[in-house]
Amino acid sequence: MNCNEYVGNVHLHTTFSDGTATHEEIVRIAQSVGLDFVIPTDHNVLVKGKEGWYGNTLLLVGEEVHDTQRVPEVNHYLAFDITEDVASYAKDPQAVIDAVNAQGGFGFIAHPFERSAPLANEAALPWVDWSVTGYTGLELWNYMSEFKAHLPNMLQAILLVYFPQIAMCGPFPETLARWDELLRTKRVVAICGSDAHAKTYRLGPLSRKVFSYRHLFQASNLHILSEETFNGELEHDKEVIYGALRRGRCFIVYGLLGNARGFRFKARSSVAEAIMGDAITLQSQIVFEVSSPQRAHIRLLKNGTVVARTRGKELRYTAREPGVYRVEAHRRCFFRERGWVFTNPIYVKQRV
Ligand SMILES: [Zn+2]
Ligand SMILES: [Zn+2]
Repeated sequence: MNCNEYVGNVHLHTTFSDGTATHEEIVRIAQSVGLDFVIPTDHNVLVKGKEGWYGNTLLLVGEEVHDTQRVPEVNHYLAFDITEDVASYAKDPQAVIDAVNAQGGFGFIAHPFERSAPLANEAALPWVDWSVTGYTGLELWNYMSEFKAHLPNMLQAILLVYFPQIAMCGPFPETLARWDELLRTKRVVAICGSDAHAKTYRLGPLSRKVFSYRHLFQASNLHILSEETFNGELEHDKEVIYGALRRGRCFIVYGLLGNARGFRFKARSSVAEAIMGDAITLQSQIVFEVSSPQRAHIRLLKNGTVVARTRGKELRYTAREPGVYRVEAHRRCFFRERGWVFTNPIYVKQRV
């Protein structure tokens, strides 16, 4: 199966909420670093009239919804492919999800797990209402959430703001564990979010934008795979992106550890083929193939447990059992291995 690969950045903020750049400025920065698409999601407002192609970058608009009256303001939901604002439902997370779905949209639980960030003077804002249903997936890796969790004191904060690669390790183990747990019973698509605001923080005598849109557009990216090619028409190209996100045909990349364009995770039975996000029926066996454009520590996990690993660019594994199979690739940077690529699963179903 030949797929187009498009690279973009989702979950970020503009001047319509608490970001520091306009949609037009953001898409210009995205284009300058070669992103194919960018999807701002302002807090509790659906900004209309901005979507379209700006040079080589497609701008789509989503919404991040949460109850601003609640203390702390937990339960943030990222809504996509909607035409009407859903902020009026914010008091009830299930009502938000239902309202998004009723419009034909879909969405993700944002930063499901967070640690409080005393230095950034911001409370932890996890998802707490896990009884909800009807969401498409969750934000496995929120770049700003992870970064803030690494700021135990001012000295480290100053260091890490200038060398974020020392801090970033990967999704929180708690979020990975929750995802694997949810995957036991249903499809759950994972995405990453940069959560870019580009606010300026003052650290003693220093002041620094943490982080610039440019930095985050090179660090926290979502690669989508689609058999369809962009044709320059907004509605068609929007469906290319949103179709892939709904199906989980996408993978998460921490771009500062290396270019991951071309990373693939495939499965083959005697009668069918699958890529990440797909389901495939178990015949006598399923052959998995992982190929990476860079050397990495590649791990194949079944139901959350590593079943095969290699250091290199290729991994092959023959499975004889149904389960949820996904791939992680880690690379070394600043004295330790850090998360580089996280794919969505291939769901191997029992033959009936
Ligand atoms: Zn949020
Ligand atoms: Zn946000």
